[in-house]
Amino acid sequence: MAFSLDLTADSTRNALRPGMAQEKASLIGLTRAEMAEALVNAGIVPERQAKMRVQQLWHWLYVRGVSDFAHMFNISKDLRAALAEHFSISRPEIVEEQISNDGTRKWLFRFPPRGAGRPVEIETVYIPEEGRGTLCISSQVGCTLTCSFCHTGTQKLVRNLTAEEILTQLLSARDRLGDFPDRDTPAGAIVPSEGRKVSNIVMMGMGEPLYNFEAVKKALLIASDGDGLALSKRRITLSTSGVVPEIYRTGEEIGVMLAISLHATNDDLRDLLVPINKKFPLKELMKACREYPGLSNARRITFEYVMLKEVNDSLDDAKALVKLLKGIPAKINLIPFNPWPGSNYQCSDWEQIEKFADYINAAGYASPIRTPRGRDILAACGQLKSESERLKKSERLALEAMMIAGHGEA
Ligand code: SAH
Ligand code: SF4
Repeated sequence: MAFSLDLTADSTRNALRPGMAQEKASLIGLTRAEMAEALVNAGIVPERQAKMRVQQLWHWLYVRGVSDFAHMFNISKDLRAALAEHFSISRPEIVEEQISNDGTRKWLFRFPPRGAGRPVEIETVYIPEEGRGTLCISSQVGCTLTCSFCHTGTQKLVRNLTAEEILTQLLSARDRLGDFPDRDTPAGAIVPSEGRKVSNIVMMGMGEPLYNFEAVKKALLIASDGDGLALSKRRITLSTSGVVPEIYRTGEEIGVMLAISLHATNDDLRDLLVPINKKFPLKELMKACREYPGLSNARRITFEYVMLKEVNDSLDDAKALVKLLKGIPAKINLIPFNPWPGSNYQCSDWEQIEKFADYINAAGYASPIRTPRGRDILAACGQLKSESERLKKSERLALEAMMIAGHGEA
């Protein structure tokens, strides 16, 4: 059985929603230079000490994962008080935590209003696997793009997430998973790179990360910083529907692994499935992939391909796919379509997915089917939405029925 905790209950409210009214500037998501400037401008750290203080804070925030200045015990009491007066390092409110029967976890996070806006909610998903754990992070609330098979695409863009909000998804998930060192371990303790609960991150949650380039870049550079969260860039994957001009910049300026939501091998079909294709057609997209900085057999691009019954799942489609990717160091990821109420597609029959995969395998691409995870808690690809648009009970029941009737593998 999947289960769900309503963490807004009074008993947990205070522990889980520290600093809800976020009037203070957050130190999370700032570059080192920005953090130094903020400390000096607040008049609490002299310029000559700024570098050293930033180093201390960086360690507490990103190696130790503390969310309260009071726990930074190698910083003087007075300075801790001054920091707390001016700045926040709090996490978002956790509205709901759901745990699937396959161990997948999904959190609904609520972020405080920015400026005149309203609070916003987004979902983050953790997928534990043999020997690794992947966190699927959101970059926007909703999405401006309208891919016809994607649930998020039916939700209007509310706003971009900030670098802080992108990073606190990772920090909060690690808090909840017990993935930071114990507070009692010596101050120099570092989290071993082996055995981490969150060993990989993928920008595959809600939103199009390349339409929020600057914030995503900042967050990923902090997540991969060797003196902090220290996730290797090879363990970070950014998925895009094909925002061609920012693809090159992703390789050059962020240096993470790239995934392309391909889903079709000709422009006519891709225009329908992934409408951004009308702006950046396949020829331009493939050129950007071929020119992706750092591309090699050891650093391949992942091409995601959602399996839609009688839409893109024939053997001719498989052949066209192999032909299209020829010469690009690539991995292919076949994603069984995850249904949602109101969707106009069905998932391909399992037999057809296997036939398609066999053809791809024979062409030299290994293990291409992505097993759906966390379907019982609507955590699978394309099913994420925010609280404001969460399913009504009747819709949830309809969806459950669809999934029971739908696929043998679910
Ligand atoms: N916006 C980005 C990243 C988020 S979507 C992008 O489009 O790449 C992550 C992946 O899930 C994408 O490949 C997307 O096409 C796929 N996806 C969306 N809806 C889906 C659904 N209902 N079933 C299966 N995969 C889906
Ligand atoms: Fe947006 Fe990606 Fe969904 Fe397309 S697939 S609507 S780009 S989140």
